[in-house]
Amino acid sequence: MQAVRFHQHGGPEVLMFEDAPDPVPGPGEALVRVRACALNHLDLWQRRGMAKVRLPFPHISGADVAGEVVSGAPAGTRVMLQPGVSCGACASCLSGRDNLCASYDLLGYMRDGGYAEYVKAPLANLIPIPDHVGFVEAAAFPLTFLTAWHMLVGRAALRAGETTLVLAAGSGVGQAAIQIAKLLGARVIATAGGAEKRERARALGADEVIDHYDQDLTAEVRRLTGGRGVEVVVEHVGEATWERSVRSLARGGRLVTCGATTGPAGPIDLRVLFARQISLLGSYMGGKAELLEVSRFFFEGRLRPAVDLTFPLRDAAAAHARLERKEQFGKIVLMPDP
Ligand SMILES: [Zn+2]
Repeated sequence: MQAVRFHQHGGPEVLMFEDAPDPVPGPGEALVRVRACALNHLDLWQRRGMAKVRLPFPHISGADVAGEVVSGAPAGTRVMLQPGVSCGACASCLSGRDNLCASYDLLGYMRDGGYAEYVKAPLANLIPIPDHVGFVEAAAFPLTFLTAWHMLVGRAALRAGETTLVLAAGSGVGQAAIQIAKLLGARVIATAGGAEKRERARALGADEVIDHYDQDLTAEVRRLTGGRGVEVVVEHVGEATWERSVRSLARGGRLVTCGATTGPAGPIDLRVLFARQISLLGSYMGGKAELLEVSRFFFEGRLRPAVDLTFPLRDAAAAHARLERKEQFGKIVLMPDP
């Protein structure tokens, strides 16, 4: 098959469009013909290299896949794939918290992913998609909507009537979190850079949009909440926004984070933590059952992943460069030649 692989860490130029062996599914696995594969920030970290993580080389990234079953399940079934892979037998897995499994992995992380014509995946990872859902949208859905659902529902328990601050509306997690928060009946204050992204954030349902280049985030949040602050902050930016995110919280507020795109340092004044009774919550992916739950809203048309652009698979390097330059609004999707 043809695939995009890298044999060493580096910039987008290490992504090679080349021949690779076809995946051979084992027992309990399906072979899927990839029709679309969405990019995630994780793909950039994998390509650049991460401390304490040793990826198998050559490496095929890609956690978000939609396509058609070739073998292992009824051939031709249109599916999207659960990105998380876990043992299925430990207490965490059996209690539905498989993202806490000690052997938790993702497609395209320690195993080959969807930057290819074919990918193999455990049968438990196949989610059939209805005819009216296209492959591009289906590939754009799983990882970010699962992540945002677990953050808002599983961790922060956002309730109707509360206000949430969602950072970076144009990011994968941001566009998903805005839609999920509105679905739950919350008020959404989003941040976005520039007039065009602000407009798109509103179109997704954000009630207020703060320009993170031009405006003072904390002051604007205070103004928009009558001085109170927000009940929930959806963080994933990290160092660049952390202190302002903490200061945007109301008393008793919850900050939930799933990433540190701009750096890992997150100082906290312990007097603020206890006196204002703040909760800091870490979140990573989500359980398989949570993805099935949130998928229902997708299939009913009540949640729609924002798709930025599609690229042919062979142009994965250009796609990475666009994500790296933060030019996108929503998901960038790769498509193998039909
Ligand atoms: Zn397990």
